[in-house]
Amino acid sequence: MSLNDTAPTDHAGMQAEAAAILADLVGFPTVSGLPNGNIVDYIAARLECFGATTLIDRHADGTRANVVATFGDGLSGGVVLCGHMDVVPADPAGWCADPFRLRRDGERLIGRGAVDMKGFLAMCLAAAPLIAAEAGRLKRPIHFIFTFDEEEGCFGAAQVGAFLAANGIAPAAAIVGEPTGMVPVSAHRALLELTTTVTGSSGHASNPTGKVSAVHAASLLMAEIVRRADALSQSPHAQTPFLPPYATINIGRVAGGEARNAIANICHFDWEVRPLPYEDGDAIFAGIESHAAALAQRLHARDREASIKTEVIARCLGLAPHANCRAADLVRRLWTDEAPGVVSFGTDAGYLQAAGIDTVVFGPGEFAAMHQPEEWITDGQIAAGLTFIARVVDDCCR
Ligand SMILES: [Zn+2]
Repeated sequence: MSLNDTAPTDHAGMQAEAAAILADLVGFPTVSGLPNGNIVDYIAARLECFGATTLIDRHADGTRANVVATFGDGLSGGVVLCGHMDVVPADPAGWCADPFRLRRDGERLIGRGAVDMKGFLAMCLAAAPLIAAEAGRLKRPIHFIFTFDEEEGCFGAAQVGAFLAANGIAPAAAIVGEPTGMVPVSAHRALLELTTTVTGSSGHASNPTGKVSAVHAASLLMAEIVRRADALSQSPHAQTPFLPPYATINIGRVAGGEARNAIANICHFDWEVRPLPYEDGDAIFAGIESHAAALAQRLHARDREASIKTEVIARCLGLAPHANCRAADLVRRLWTDEAPGVVSFGTDAGYLQAAGIDTVVFGPGEFAAMHQPEEWITDGQIAAGLTFIARVVDDCCR
């Protein structure tokens, strides 16, 4: 490809381009955890053709990568537009047609990722010719950060802060374009996803001497986790917009044992901790881990093979609101003076904030359409997102 002088920079042209690009992006079935080289190559080629400097930040296993693209000179003080390239799975049973083939129904464009969040990526890519046209006037750089595996635990975003630092890129503000209905969001909970495996002994239930039942041991640990969850609910935070106003813990799945009359030699349970952004989820987890270690010691006295192991499956940092946030200020100046709110879902924003970038979540589309069969975005929502991006470009020229 070469720089296309005829690429549209007017609003109607960019809107048509965004819909066409969205069709291409939805066609990459980038379910979290799968290799994403095809979509990375497509995005990088498109952005390089409009003069962006494009860096690929690969995961250690080489199969997935983030894209970091920069328009303009200078590496500090710029604005980031951030979105994730992965999508949640799509069970075809819930869809009227192939979820990975974008289709139109009236004003709606329907396909997996349409709103969460390939629609926003398509708007960024459709705005690239406009940014290229203004490149000579940019006073601050504009960066696109497109991540992998957000839906499984923000794995791409977790590594991008170190990558930016290694490349000397120090943006001032970031907009994570998740669908918030164009209302700014300055806070969300953190999330720790965990799986605990208790290993005990095999044997007949009639003779438990010297044996460890993994189900009994797991039930003791789960009782302690429930006790701590109750204790957290008893000391709510006084001034927080979050409901409920405390860290929650949920044990969502338990599996173990073989029969009523057999000592269970294995038991697994899946659980999660959702702290408020200003709470220390690791401290909550560490308290439970030390209780588990003491319990494991008691099990050892009966069977040296007995053990309790907890694996961190995923972790998403919370987004904490703060005063003088340059990203919130940008949204206030360019779009709405509505006070920023909070959401219950996690995003990449916590990791950008941890990398020292003022960050808000703000993007087109409805929360209700996310992760649903027949996921959609409308022409009007795309138009609103493009208008905002065009204002960001203009602002970076001032
Ligand atoms: Zn999302």
